[in-house]
Order: sequence, then structure tokens, then C-alpha cells
Amino acid sequence: MKMMINSIQKSVIRIHTLSRASVCRGLSSVSGPKVCVVGGGPAGFYTAQQLLKARQDAVVDIYERLPVPFGLVRFGVAPDHPEVKNVINTFTQTAHHDRCSFHGNVNVGKDVSIEELRQAYHAVVLSYGAEGNRSMGILGENLPGVFSAKDFVGWYNGIPANKELCPDLSCETAVILGQGNVALDVARIILSPLDMLKELREMVNLPNTRADMLLSDFEDIGETLKDLPRPRKRLTELLIKALNERNDKAEKSWSFRFCRSPVEVLAASDGKRAAGIRLAVNKLEGSGESVRAVPTDKLEDVNCGIIISSIGYKSIPIDPAVPFDHRRAVVPNDTGRVQDVSGLYCSGWVKRGPTGVIATTMNDSFDTARVLLQDMDTGKLDLSIKKPGAQAIAALLQTRGVRTVSFTQWEKINAEEERRGKPHGKPREKLLDVEDMLKIAWS
Ligand code: FAD
Repeated sequence: MKMMINSIQKSVIRIHTLSRASVCRGLSSVSGPKVCVVGGGPAGFYTAQQLLKARQDAVVDIYERLPVPFGLVRFGVAPDHPEVKNVINTFTQTAHHDRCSFHGNVNVGKDVSIEELRQAYHAVVLSYGAEGNRSMGILGENLPGVFSAKDFVGWYNGIPANKELCPDLSCETAVILGQGNVALDVARIILSPLDMLKELREMVNLPNTRADMLLSDFEDIGETLKDLPRPRKRLTELLIKALNERNDKAEKSWSFRFCRSPVEVLAASDGKRAAGIRLAVNKLEGSGESVRAVPTDKLEDVNCGIIISSIGYKSIPIDPAVPFDHRRAVVPNDTGRVQDVSGLYCSGWVKRGPTGVIATTMNDSFDTARVLLQDMDTGKLDLSIKKPGAQAIAALLQTRGVRTVSFTQWEKINAEEERRGKPHGKPREKLLDVEDMLKIAWS
């Protein structure tokens, strides 16, 4: 398979193949602040961790839409980066904390409103990530054969909603639009032999695979290279090394195409599926920070069997009562305090947009926890009113026929997944169906 990875503005990848059960366990007797967190991903767990550490009297409940915790650590981070997933151990410790409870299978905004959570808790922290994706806004993007990276990643990572995606990977060429980390994950996963999907580091080291960049893209790079910031310099040097050490006998290849933007998805002659992509060739104008990619009148058509648009995730509003900045696709906030709604906070991707790694999300969540603690200490949050917390929400959910999954019940799902993975030498075989998860959780 051949693969082309395209950076939209400036530059395309191209692949060629020749609690424990702590739910309501008497925590209402703790008289300190009751906080709930919406979303059981890194932002939710890091915010909870910090609050629990800083205040010995705080109780934190985490509400999660799925029966399983950990957000994109489970459903985004690539399967060949197992070490990144180790943060799950820290999150598990937090979930096991005496004053923390996990309530899975609760779709906030649908099963329970933010207003109801605000009534029940002193503070509500929105940490529900970025579950939408940006559209390219070009003709043909809804044709079969065109996928968003979000859905494609969800498919190979076992998100229940994406289990039926079935992308046809028998084609010769895949085009990935975008050149961010997610685009590289997708490229590496497509190119990797199945038995390599564990310890693999870099696409450049893939067996039987060569980097097929355009030499002209690297001409006269020497001068520019020395002034680049260190991380970008190292990346560029890695690309040049891959180019110099290319294995002409390799059956698979990948390449970056710089300075290209998608203009139109080209349909096959029967009009029924994507068969190529038309790209505008861009030129760079300006210099330094103000450099911009501007389309020329040159177009380039690339034939391919699959197109994956990896141009970014985006947060979506989950409750009409919560302010939402549709242009930036974030909850508008000041260092984590949601604008104009007292007692409402946010952390992670829904706070600052879908960029940055888990460490960035951690720092950002600690910042939110810090301002929330400040508001408790300064009296900005009124802690004198007793709040019912999880008990009130559990009663509401019960009347609505919503049954929750506790952390102990998630651990049953976890044990079953690990048991199913063992005979295949895999860390786990993920359950793909929410009904199956629930059956095991509640068994
Ligand atoms: P999420 O992880 O998305 O968590 C949000 C949680 O909220 C989810 O569990 C979701 O189910 C839940 N939720 C959503 N809506 C609701 C609702 N209505 N009610 C209740 N719960 C809800 N970082 C690294 O450091 N290393 C990597 O290798 C890496 N690889 C990545 C690969 C991909 C494909 C992606 C997309 C990201 C990757 N990241 C990586 C970045 C990292 O995953 C993010 O920084 C981090 O997950 C953001 O955390 P979050 O909690 O804001 O969002």
C-alpha cells in the first residue's frame, strides 16, 4: 500500500502498497464540598486527583457516558504505544480513593442535565473532551471511502460506535489529509504488519517500508534547519535520514506532501465511492511567524482507494444551558471557570480545544482544580449549603431507568477483556458492544 499524508495549509501522508463500588456508599455523611466531574478521561481523572489531594473533606463523583473509563487513553492512544496507557494506573488509584466514585453509563445532557448536577453538587467540572470532528467543507467528502480520523481511530481502537466502520484497506493507495500526531498514528497503523502492533516506535523503522518524499521539498533545507527550534529540527533530520536510507526494494511506502490543500474528493466513474482527491498546490508567502500558505492556480489529482481526513477533533455542546463558543468549539472559560455560570468549571480538551498530549491535559486540569479550590477558600463558592451529591442523582437516574456502572463493575469488564486477549498473546481483546459490557458489568 502507498500512503500520502497531507498537511492542509502548508504542506499531504500518502501510503502506497506494492471503586471499587463506591457509588453512594455513605459519602453523603462527609460534610465537605461535593464536586462532580463530567467525563472519565484524563482531564476528569486529573482534576479529581488534585481536588481529593488538596481537600481532605472533598467528595468527587465522576460521571462517564460509556460503561468504561479513561476516554482517549483507551480509545485514542495507538495500540503500539502501550507505555502511554500506563497513566491508567494513576487514574485507577484515584477511582479507588475513598472519597471518589465512578458512575459509568451516564450520558450527561441526556440522562441528567447540567442544571440537575448543579443543584446536587457545589461545583460541576466539564471534562467531556472533543467528540466531534471538523469537516473539510469540500465536494465529495461524504462519499463512501472517505473517513474522519476520529472514526478510523475509533474503529481500530474498539469504540462501540465505530465497530461497523469496516474501511476497505485492500486498495493500493491511502491519502491522509493532515500531518499531525493523529495522522501519523493512522499512517503507522495502516502500514504496520499485525504482529508489529506492540512495541513499534517510528514509521521510519517499519520493515519492508520506504519513505518516498519529494527530494525537491528538502532542497536548500540546510540553512533553515539550523534556525529551527530543537523538536522541529530533530523531526526534519529524521525525515532527511529516512529519505537518505530509503530501501528501494520495500513493497510499502509512505510520503509527506507539503503545501497541498484538499479541493474536492473525486468520485469513481459510477459516482458511488471516492476514487481520488484533487489538491491545490500552495506557495508560502511572508516569513517567520507570519508565513501563510496561499493556493496557486496549480491542481494535483491523486488516485486512491481510501481518504482519511485528520484535520482535528472538536468539542460539541452537550447541554443547551451551558455556554458554548461555536467558532472555537470550546466551553468559554477563564482559566477553567465557565463564563457567566457560577459553580461550573471545565478542564481538558473541552476547555482549551483538541490539542496537546496527556501531560498538557494534566497541567491544564491541575490549573482548573487550583481555581476551583481557590473559589472554595475565598467563599466565591458557597459551601455552607448542604448538597445531596450522588444520592440525589442516583434517585433521578433510577426514575429514568438509567443503571450506572461502578468502578468495581468496570473492573469486571477489564478482567474479561484481559482474559479474552490472553490466548492471542494480546494485553486485552476489547469488548466492542455496549450491551456486552453492561451484561458483564452487572453479572
Ligand atoms: P477525552 O480523553 O476525550 O475524555 C473525555 C471523556 O468524556 C470520554 O471518556 C467521553 O466518553 C466522556 N464523555 C463525552 N461526552 C460525555 C457526556 N455527555 N457525558 C459523560 N461523559 C462524556 N496523548 C499522549 O500523551 N500520547 C499519545 O500517544 C496520544 N495519542 C493520541 C491519539 C489520538 C488518536 C488522539 C485523538 C489523542 C491522543 N493523545 C495522546 C492526546 C490525549 O488522548 C488527550 O490529550 C486527552 O485524552 C484529552 O483528555 P480529555 O479528558 O480532555 O478528553
